Amino acid sequence: MKERLVILGAGESGVGTAILGKAKGFDVFVSDFGSIKEQYRNELIENNIAFEEGTHTEMHILNADVVMKSPGIPEKAPIIKKITEKGIRIISEIEFAGKYTNAQTICITGSNGKTTTTMLTYELLKLAGFKVGLAGNVGTSFARQVATESFTHYVIELSSFQLDGMFDFKADIAVLMNITPDHLDRYNYNMQEYVDSKFRIIQNQTSADAFIFFSDDQIVMDEVNKRRVKSEMFPFTLQPAENQQGASVIDHTIKVNVNQNLFEMSIYDLALQGKHNTCNSMAAAIIGKIAGIRNEFIRECLAGFGGVEHRLEKYLSVHGIEFVNDSKATNINSTWYALESMAKPTVWIVGGVDKGNDYSELFDLARNKVKAIICLGVDNSKIVNAFNGIVPEIIETSSMEHAVKSAYFMAEKGDVVLLSPACASFDLFNNYEDRGKQFKEAVRNL
Ligand code: ADP
Repeated sequence: MKERLVILGAGESGVGTAILGKAKGFDVFVSDFGSIKEQYRNELIENNIAFEEGTHTEMHILNADVVMKSPGIPEKAPIIKKITEKGIRIISEIEFAGKYTNAQTICITGSNGKTTTTMLTYELLKLAGFKVGLAGNVGTSFARQVATESFTHYVIELSSFQLDGMFDFKADIAVLMNITPDHLDRYNYNMQEYVDSKFRIIQNQTSADAFIFFSDDQIVMDEVNKRRVKSEMFPFTLQPAENQQGASVIDHTIKVNVNQNLFEMSIYDLALQGKHNTCNSMAAAIIGKIAGIRNEFIRECLAGFGGVEHRLEKYLSVHGIEFVNDSKATNINSTWYALESMAKPTVWIVGGVDKGNDYSELFDLARNKVKAIICLGVDNSKIVNAFNGIVPEIIETSSMEHAVKSAYFMAEKGDVVLLSPACASFDLFNNYEDRGKQFKEAVRNL
């Protein structure tokens, strides 16, 4: 009898898994509680894959041998509870697809910096001529590529959602950018559970595999010291660390050392500026050295990388005022790095849905760099109260157009207007992309 694979959610990862599952001989059933996008519905029909939408029919689900849960489906959904009670294994797309490829996997996780580092690494491998796929949170699903492509390498961005559904999968190169409190609601407000989730990135690794991590991060280091890590370790640090395996910064130069194979580059030549981006560049450079990529390719990639939209994106200058879109900064840590990298007087647009922020971490930077705050949210009171007396001007707004106009009014030639909200976007926008796009549109209309 065929093994029954039930897939919950018919988005990119669900449909990709369905196609791979079918190709591998599973009896596949896809169930989506909402409505399925036309493109995906058509694909399921074309591939003769059974599915339902607008409901979860237990009879067709609880007879599964294995269930693939799409990352967007909440752990607390009633159907998940029933599946768990029946003892059926719930896995993620990456876990499922990982069984069907021998390609090298480079997996990147962390609270911040995943997408940037993933894109940087992907570009580097492409530049060096590897047959490489990009997967995880971005673009085409891993499962679909495993079914239809013949890549030798994959760069995979992994969020906690995917890591939680991974058991036997192994990353050949695992990267942990940092761990700061985020998504704690998913982990019963227990930091250790969140840390454990992130450390799944190294599960199943052996001494033949590599673990790259940020050694300035105390939470990461405490955990590394607690565990017996089997993998070869390549820490990166913003501090000087001569001759250390991994990467460090000495006299404004990043120094990478992978088994005495060296690479160095001035931080001023990096396309991505700011300390956080130096970390992202160091991580990508270590991966490059492990993969045996020539230094000239690494240098060319790190110097020429175009950045990723909505991440500290230098958008436009209007009358000598520079507008920077960092809409993806949805927590304090990422905004900390944005403010830290500001070299000019800054008008800072901040606010949205606060996930329990402690703004005091930003007081020093705000005091030194920010000339005015433009609050942008339905409820701005927490920000107003926090920065009262720290930043001379605080203006409240509740639309992007108003926020950008107010910022423009407050800024002078030579200043920067920075959108770095430190908050989620759902009060006024569909998502962070929508927020960033509206920002850019409002700037264009000035
Ligand atoms: P993720 O995919 O983990 O959300 P992104 O690369 O999309 O990370 O960046 C999210 C936000 O965090 C952006 O505002 C970006 O400027 C900032 N950021 C990028 N890299 C780092 C890092 N290494 N540490 C802290 N913040 C970062």
